[in-house]
Amino acid sequence: MTYSNPQQTAPPLLIVTDLDGTLLDHDSYSFAPARPALERAYAAGIPVIANTSKTRAELIDLRASLGNSDPFIIENGSAICIPEQQIHLRRDDDRIDEGYIELPLGVGIDEIRSQLTRLSREYRFESFGQWSLEQVITHTGLSPDAARQAQERRYSEALLWLDSDARQRQFSRELATQGLHCLQGGRFLSVLGAEADKGRALERLKNLYRPLLGETPLVIALGDSDNDVAMLEAADIAVVIANPHRPAPVVHANEVIYSQAAGPAGWNNVIQVLLDRYQAAEKR
Ligand SMILES: [Mg+2]
Repeated sequence: MTYSNPQQTAPPLLIVTDLDGTLLDHDSYSFAPARPALERAYAAGIPVIANTSKTRAELIDLRASLGNSDPFIIENGSAICIPEQQIHLRRDDDRIDEGYIELPLGVGIDEIRSQLTRLSREYRFESFGQWSLEQVITHTGLSPDAARQAQERRYSEALLWLDSDARQRQFSRELATQGLHCLQGGRFLSVLGAEADKGRALERLKNLYRPLLGETPLVIALGDSDNDVAMLEAADIAVVIANPHRPAPVVHANEVIYSQAAGPAGWNNVIQVLLDRYQAAEKR
């Protein structure tokens, strides 16, 4: 862990964060303990980009409660959504769909579901696509509105895996032959396009910001589980947020910081320390 040696001039910062178990509490989905650091980042004009397994519909509501107007990455890196107001990040020919430009990296949900229908004859799993709204609520603990938004999937299917670990590895190999892959999230196994991951989406996002910021931003990424590793390893500073429900993922990056506190409290502590470091560098 390095908390010293600030650089001579502070680089532009970009914060990219997982939500469940990271900015949001694993059980209550609250972000209240992270509010001080979040407000501080907003006040400094630092973009805070959600990079999550959640759907676009879920994010739109959640961003409003977070007071966030930055772009966001949905369904485990399947697409970057840019609000139409962010004109500096857009190209003239971008198509606007209900207020957002969507840059896809993944495969459409219909294609994924047709592959899964075939695989469901060989492997035991249940999916969001098969569940009623009530079943989604039971399995996620989400409110009815949030559960409805979680069902609005465009690029990935969420599975409750009911087969063995060995069978899951075999399932994963079969997906690869179809241009798909799977990722273990906090509660569910996501099935999505082979090109879609949180790390690739972060790289693409960084390129979008480069002309705007005049230089390559320094990226701070925060996550708590295995599906965050690609994102954490694509960042300059990887922050692994403690999760009492599982061991921390193994991450190889320039600088890796492990939070002491879990979820949003850990988010708050580490971002405060990092903002102290870079804002102190700015004042020199
Ligand atoms: Mg998470």
